[in-house]
Amino acid sequence: MKKIAILGSTGSIGTQTLQVVEEQKDLEVVALSCGGNIKLLEEQIRKFSPKLVSVWEEKDAGVLRQNIADLQVKVVCGMEGLLEVATVPETEILVTAIVGMLGIRPTIAAIEAGKDIALANKETLVTAGHIIMPLARKKGVSILPVDSEHSAIFQSLNGERHNKIHKILLTASGGPFRGKKREELKQIQVEDALKHPNWAMGRKITIDSSTLVNKGLEVMEAKWLFDVELEQIQVVVHPQSVIHSAVEYEDGAVIAQLGTPDMRLPIQYALYYPDRRPLSGKRLDLFALGQLTFEEPDTETFRGLALAYQAMKQGGNIPTVYNAANERAVALFLQRKISYLQITEIIEAAMNEISFAESPNLDQILATEQMTYDFIDSRW
Ligand code: NDP
Repeated sequence: MKKIAILGSTGSIGTQTLQVVEEQKDLEVVALSCGGNIKLLEEQIRKFSPKLVSVWEEKDAGVLRQNIADLQVKVVCGMEGLLEVATVPETEILVTAIVGMLGIRPTIAAIEAGKDIALANKETLVTAGHIIMPLARKKGVSILPVDSEHSAIFQSLNGERHNKIHKILLTASGGPFRGKKREELKQIQVEDALKHPNWAMGRKITIDSSTLVNKGLEVMEAKWLFDVELEQIQVVVHPQSVIHSAVEYEDGAVIAQLGTPDMRLPIQYALYYPDRRPLSGKRLDLFALGQLTFEEPDTETFRGLALAYQAMKQGGNIPTVYNAANERAVALFLQRKISYLQITEIIEAAMNEISFAESPNLDQILATEQMTYDFIDSRW
């Protein structure tokens, strides 16, 4: 039995990870964590029997302790709780399916403790890639990508470790507003932006996909994971989401991974790497698809992608500003306090406002996050 722990077990990636656990039968769940959804967490506890769980608020921990008083499960809370879940001694692999920069400290703690990481929480690498990747190398742990695009790149690198990557072709569906111009995006409402054409995901990442900020975050994630220059990463809009991404080598050969849009595949691949396991569900039917199409991204309309390249070029703490500003702006948009186009305007304003720090340590990254939030809260 391979022993796993999950940060964010009640979310989109977390629940799909547990579907993989159910289907495979040889994964043992030792610890789970969520924010406040203690009802679903209780169901998961009763089904998967972890020995430790964590929730964010102390009062939720109290209620959960009462609700599962018939079980031998330790309930912890807050950041200390997340750190405990991340470092349970017997865990072999930690799935980081928590949303946002909250994932940084537990991910670092897990690497320090020698755990392999199945990484979904891209915000961690975007903001602290310069800390996480060298630490993982030093500790000899694997960072296994869960994001479908990065998993596709990872799979396309199999057997090619000695060959240099010429280019990464990072595919993007283009989101629900592909082909629209800024003028047409003025009136976009929360409900419109929450409709992704191909993938069912958490709310924040669905909005991020519509603005192409998610693709921007993925460019930064790819840079850290695969150690390439920014100029070697090309975003290709591919509305069918069948080619999950590709690698071009020096001889011009392009190796890609294709499949139906099903996150269980990259999750399962990360958990069992380098093995493949059977997976139930729809298979790719190329005849039914007929054709695959490709476009250049429209970075004038979708400024979020251009700003991501700019943030990464500037480096230091600016990717943190980009990410934190987006987190806050998306939350404001979901609360209907700002308009859709203001999301990227706020990111740009924050990138111009917050002072530069060249090689930020963890405290400086978290201070940058707070400064960015304070700036936005004082203006919007
Ligand atoms: P969801 O919003 O669906 O889930 C987020 C998870 O984080 C939930 O379990 C949530 O708990 C938990 N959480 C939120 N706040 C806290 C907190 N304060 N303390 C502890 N746990 C907390 O997100 P997704 O699953 O969509 O995404 C998770 C990560 O994976 C993100 O970084 C995203 O970018 C990345 N990702 C997602 C993909 C997808 O297909 N969904 C694809 C690739 C990457 P609760 O339910 O209690 O709020």
